[in-house]
Amino acid sequence: MIAPLRLAIPNKGRLAEPSVELLRNAGLDFELSERRLSASVRNADVELLFVRTDDIAEYVADGLVELGLTGADLVSEHGGALHTVLALGFGACSLVLAVPRDGEHSAPADLAGLRIATSFPRVTAAYLAGHGVDAQVVEVRGAVEVTPQLGVADAVVDLVASGSTLRMNGLRPIATLLASEAVLVARDGMADADERVGGLVDMLRSVLDARGREYMMMNAPAESLDRIRALIPGLSGPTVMPLADPAFIAVHSVVERSQLWRIVPALKEAGARDILVVPIEKVVR
Ligand code: AMP
Repeated sequence: MIAPLRLAIPNKGRLAEPSVELLRNAGLDFELSERRLSASVRNADVELLFVRTDDIAEYVADGLVELGLTGADLVSEHGGALHTVLALGFGACSLVLAVPRDGEHSAPADLAGLRIATSFPRVTAAYLAGHGVDAQVVEVRGAVEVTPQLGVADAVVDLVASGSTLRMNGLRPIATLLASEAVLVARDGMADADERVGGLVDMLRSVLDARGREYMMMNAPAESLDRIRALIPGLSGPTVMPLADPAFIAVHSVVERSQLWRIVPALKEAGARDILVVPIEKVVR
């Protein structure tokens, strides 16, 4: 018997629930026990390990698991030989350099000789070195944004999504070090060598591809086909079917949800009617 594919996912925090939801939507059938340590997937040879988001890159690098689901920011900070297999489209945030709003610093170069607090010491040091700024990196574990008020640091490098936490603490971003989202990572070279990874990645990708898309169906005058086709080209062109009345056709297509507000009025204008829009679960290519 071959050992199951081990996938480490966050046991708590902001990436935990969306990770479980993504895996379930991809069709993996598993139960969450109260302590959330591990779970066997019933319908696939996959073992889930629930660990701290911060530790996942290390688990993958050490070969304790074949795959990990964590933030791209944490993969960068780890700095090991890890390979991003798939970007997952949630957990978006940026790592920014921020300074007190009312202070005199407005560019990275102004921070020479000062103290910068962060939970990302490696990425911060690399950024400062890249910009030729000689500053002191102060590693803190949490509540980075309050360190200037406490007098512990002159600036911070911290994660932001909306930026409201920084603003509430009187800080203003002056540079972005990296943009992050949740990612699936493997050790370098591992993902290609293990075909079980490919199967799981394909299923996850089919769910991600379906997100933000809808399936549209409509009836329309046959003579409007060219206009309608231009509006809804679909994945490989729309499906067109004859109706009992030869003057009419049925047209089906996949559309981007964000474009519906623009497409629907134009379709009506082209003579389409009985327009149905239904959700898509997966897109398998
Ligand atoms: P946790 O601290 O366990 O909630 O997860 C932190 C991870 O969530 C970070 O490493 C990022 O990858 C991601 N994340 C997404 N948005 C934010 C945010 N606004 N602040 C901090 N982390 C975020």
